[in-house]
Parts: sequence; C-alpha cells; structure tokens
Amino acid sequence: MRRGPQLARLQGPFSAILQDTVTDPFIRHWMDLLCFLLSGLPAADTSAAEMAFMFAGEWYRRGVYLDYPRGGSGALVNALVRGLQKYGGQLRLQAHVEQVMVEQGRAAGVVLRSGEELRAKRAVISNASIWDTLKLLPAGAMPQRFVQRRQAMPRCPSFMHLHLGIDATDIRPDLACHYIVVNDWQLGVTAPQNLVLISIPSLLDPSLAPPGKHTIHVYTPGNEPYSLWQGLDRRSQAYADLKATRSAVMFQALERIIPDLQRRIEVKLVGTPLTHERFLRRHQGTYGPAISAQTGLFPGPRTPLPGLWCTGDSTFPGIGLPAVAASGMTTANTLASVGQHRQMLRQVLASGKF
Ligand SMILES: Cc1cc2nc3c(=O)[nH]c(=O)nc-3n(C[C@H](O)[C@H](O)[C@H](O)COP(=O)(O)OP(=O)(O)OC[C@H]3O[C@@H](n4cnc5c(N)ncnc54)[C@H](O)[C@@H]3O)c2cc1C
Repeated sequence: MRRGPQLARLQGPFSAILQDTVTDPFIRHWMDLLCFLLSGLPAADTSAAEMAFMFAGEWYRRGVYLDYPRGGSGALVNALVRGLQKYGGQLRLQAHVEQVMVEQGRAAGVVLRSGEELRAKRAVISNASIWDTLKLLPAGAMPQRFVQRRQAMPRCPSFMHLHLGIDATDIRPDLACHYIVVNDWQLGVTAPQNLVLISIPSLLDPSLAPPGKHTIHVYTPGNEPYSLWQGLDRRSQAYADLKATRSAVMFQALERIIPDLQRRIEVKLVGTPLTHERFLRRHQGTYGPAISAQTGLFPGPRTPLPGLWCTGDSTFPGIGLPAVAASGMTTANTLASVGQHRQMLRQVLASGKF
C-alpha cells in the first residue's frame, strides 16, 4: 500500500518516471532505446506500466536471457499450429480473406479470394492489423466515425532488412548472437538509419545454416519512412538505386563486427518497406501502431460490429508477441462460456501446471 500513490503514474509515459529518477544522459538514451525496441516509441510515448512489467519480470530477473527460439521463428509458428490442431482447430494456408460477410448487422463469416465462403458459428476474429481489417469490411458495416478514427491511428514507420548467408571459416570466436548499433546517440534512437539491429541465430542453433556457414539478419527497426518508397516500381532502376543507398547503413553496422564481411557473403537479400508490406501483408509495411502513452489508449479487441473482434499487435500495447497473445487471450476469455472456463480450470488443476 505504501506504493499506492505511485499507481496512477503507471498510466502515463515512462519518461515521467525517468524525469525524477535518472539524470545521467547515457542512461536516459539507453532507456529510450529499450522503450523503442519494445514499443516502437521513445520513453516519452511508452507506457510506464509496460516498462515496469518488463523491468520487474522479463529483463532483469535472475536467469533471464535475450534468446532466439531453437529452430528459428518457424518453431514458434509450429508450436502454435500444434496447439490449434490439438483442440480441433484447422489451419488454412493461402486462404486470402477478400471480405468479411455482414448479415443482419452482424459479422457472419468470411469470403475467400477463391470465392469460398466460411461461415462463423460464434464470431469472426481478425488477426490482420486494424488498417488491413478495415479494408475487408463492406462499406457501411461500421459507423463512419469509428472507421475514420481507426484509419487515422498513428503508425510506426517500416523496416529495411538484410538477410545474409556467409562463409564462417575462421570467423572471430567471440562473435555474439545479438548486436545493437547506434550510430549517433544525440540524433535519438528513432531517427531513420540511426539504429541497426543484428542477429546471428545460427551461432545458437547451427541447424539454421549449412555446416561452416552463418545466417544473419540485420534490420533498421521501425525507423524507415514508408513515404520514401511509396509508389516505386519494384522492377525499376530507381528502386534498385534506393535499395543500394538505404541498405548501406546495415552493411556498415555489420562490418564493425565482421570487418571482412564482403568477401564472406554467399547469399544476400535486401528487403525494403515494400517487401515488408508485401510479405507480412501489413498496411504500408508498418511496424505497428504508434499510440503515445501521453495521449491515447490502445483500442482493444472489441469493435462496434457485433460478431467481429480484432486481435494482434494493433489492439494491445507493446507491438510484439506479448501484445498478440494478450489480445488473443482477452478475446477467447470473452467468447468462451462459463462452462468452458470451468472445464479449462479443471484441466489446469488436474495437470498440476499452475
Ligand atoms: C524484424 C522484426 C523483429 C521483431 N522482433 C520481435 C521480438 O523480438 N519480440 C516480439 O515480441 N516481437 C517482435 N516483433 C514484432 C512481432 O513480430 C509482431 O508484433 C507480431 O508478429 C504481430 O503479430 P500479429 O499476429 O498481430 O500480426 P501479423 O504477424 O502481421 O499477422 C497477421 C497475419 O494476417 C495475415 N493477413 C493479412 N491480411 C489477410 C487477409 N486478407 N486474409 C488472410 N490473411 C491475412 C498476414 O498474412 C499475417 O500472417 C518483431 C517484428 C519485426 C518485423
């Protein structure tokens, strides 16, 4: 209870807490960096509650590491698919939803690009970003004010990506899996081309590369303006030139760690905001919502269209898997009956895993 009066501060931005407690300029920058990596926004716009949770439970607890899933991120996907199928769920790949069907003022199912209709028993839950979900709704299905407010929800910029396969012969033995390069602390961590992240997952899990090779992912996290790329033809010389210019910063960052990088490269793939938009199918290749803790709250899964729920990282603070999981759990919790809740509790108690 002694901390009771502090609770209200958790609602605001993390910078308000730093203001009274941290004066060292480098630590202030470092906190900005941690906020940016977590939420896509600096400390002035990141929720204090989110940072308190991460500091207390996720980053600085004994035995916590920054890791990489064994088997790559595909292993996470496979685990989710196993869970889905174990409980009778069915996964449909290459099943692009063309439109959400609305009947008698209620989301009744979806129409796929193939023309097939899938009817909903309880609800339609969209995990596409809110901006992409709005594109799937027939005109007039939602109140105009709601649509405009959601469309106008601020977005983080996009990414530049560099995927490399390199020859690892005699590579420095102290190579680490993760590096963060900040080119200029004074520019601020959100400045385009200033922050570069590097992961070399095959160091931790050799199955991710052929023997004697490494796979490397380098990226500028959520700080590449989409406007630079908008409308460019991906087959044009202008696109190729811009790609070369904007990817240079990633090579330079990696060369600080692997100086003879160029002679080692065997596979090189550069991705731009247009690649990010196309492959991840996210509106303007955005990292996610840029909702400042100073001004707004995340919308949550509920929508004004009965039977339509939205989950994913545009509905819950964080941008990342915790946001996706939390919004999914909230929605499942709301839709499940009391009987289903009781059954699940009985299963959890019986398993002893709680
Ligand atoms: C480089 C990078 C590194 C990251 N690192 C981390 C990290 O370390 N930790 C972390 O927690 N988060 C991280 N994130 C963020 C995290 O990946 C995302 O927040 C998360 O994947 C969002 O999940 P989602 O399900 O909300 O959305 P998405 O992953 O965008 O899923 C939406 C899905 O909907 C599909 N879709 C869209 N439109 C349609 C349609 N019309 N019909 C059918 N399907 C459709 C898309 O194909 C997509 O598969 C990172 C992101 C990036 C880009």
